[in-house]
Amino acid sequence: MNEYDSKRILDLTKKINYVLTDNIGEANCYVLNTCHIREKATEKVYHDIGRVKKEFRGKKKPIVIIAGCVAQAEGDVLLKKDNYIDAIIGPQSYHQINNTILNLEKNSKPTNLTEFDVIDKFDTLNNLKNSDNKVSSFLTIQEGCDKFCKFCVVPYTRGAEHSRSINELVTEAKQLVDNGSKEITLLGQNVNAYSYQKKKLSDLILEISKIKDLKRIRYTTSHPRDFTEDLIQVHKDCEKLMPLIHLPVQSGSNKILKKMNRKHTKEEYLDIIERLKKAETNIKLSSDFIIGYPEETQDDFEQTIELMKKVKFINSYSFIYSARPGTPAYELKKIDESIAKKRLIIFQNISKKIKNEYREKLLMKIIPVLFENETKEGNKYFGRDEHFNSIIVKSNENLTGKIKNIKITKLNQSTLFGEVISSLKHKDFAA
Ligand code: SAH
Ligand code: SF4
Repeated sequence: MNEYDSKRILDLTKKINYVLTDNIGEANCYVLNTCHIREKATEKVYHDIGRVKKEFRGKKKPIVIIAGCVAQAEGDVLLKKDNYIDAIIGPQSYHQINNTILNLEKNSKPTNLTEFDVIDKFDTLNNLKNSDNKVSSFLTIQEGCDKFCKFCVVPYTRGAEHSRSINELVTEAKQLVDNGSKEITLLGQNVNAYSYQKKKLSDLILEISKIKDLKRIRYTTSHPRDFTEDLIQVHKDCEKLMPLIHLPVQSGSNKILKKMNRKHTKEEYLDIIERLKKAETNIKLSSDFIIGYPEETQDDFEQTIELMKKVKFINSYSFIYSARPGTPAYELKKIDESIAKKRLIIFQNISKKIKNEYREKLLMKIIPVLFENETKEGNKYFGRDEHFNSIIVKSNENLTGKIKNIKITKLNQSTLFGEVISSLKHKDFAA
């Protein structure tokens, strides 16, 4: 979502003639868009500001703005701690960035914009064409969270759940497709909590799928609590909807899920997967895990491993629990750090093994790939298959923006390699 926000900040600042530069040294304004989900986020900000100071030593300093969730969470602390920072702008206030920059050009009074102005923000953004012209682009449809998992900062930094209207989303999706997008990923902290005048995520997906030149739709991140039957069915009904679902589970132990206030059990989670696979056999899952949550015993941890082995997630993102100031879990006693680290390594090795076994089965299979760009090497193109695997193929034809059937011939830890196949028989396709 920060990537989407950063692009919208660029769309906004173009209005006052600020454009993107790849060369920090020539920037007049430096915007650091930050994430606060795990620890060290604030340290990273000071570290980055240090880099800017070094770059501009002996020169006129640029306007320095800290945007995003660290700005929201830390507020005035950042401004007080380092007077090199000119403004802090929270994720629901960045539509005011132009006035802030224009004021700072005139005088250097530190500015704190951390109101939750989500309605105003989207009103402003709706009047501004989305200029993203990537083959695969993001579209924020929902923001914020009302779920309050005990470990998580999101409800405090992004604010309450808010869904944008279907009309404004279809308009923005059409702009993206007119700019050349073939794939749109619908974004939200709880994307499947989307709700606008009784319309749900499934309705929005069907509406957006009517855009002719749009080939693929994805959505992330879903919450198990909001995985309703209509969303399951839309995977059967909508061919443009890709069959990879990122569905964070956090833990395989019901005791820990309860302590986290996740509001779902392991059994409910598995039931969603079973129903999804019944609706569309090609569906695969990825997930997030928190390892070493307070009071996690060896038995709880083993239940998480068991779940991992049972579902065979094709991608897992796992992190040691990080105590975040201001969240209810912050007060809880942490488990021994060395135990948490050991568990993380064990968990990641198992998930890597499962991922590799899945990927090796793709060798010699033929799969449809949407190509996003030519690589720096030239005559090689980067794309993704339906399950979001990265693929590189050699080609003299410009493949950018095209979907081609690719035979996978080689793979390494991060990428699949293959060749374009021109004629196909149905049996050649990967299951
Ligand atoms: N809304 C999504 C997740 C959003 S946060 C959901 O509920 O599933 C993205 C991921 O960051 C979470 O899935 C979680 O695994 C991780 N995360 C959030 N807070 C964390 C913390 N305090 N420590 C470690 N990981 C955390
Ligand atoms: Fe954070 Fe997701 Fe829980 Fe909301 S549902 S509090 S975003 S982990």
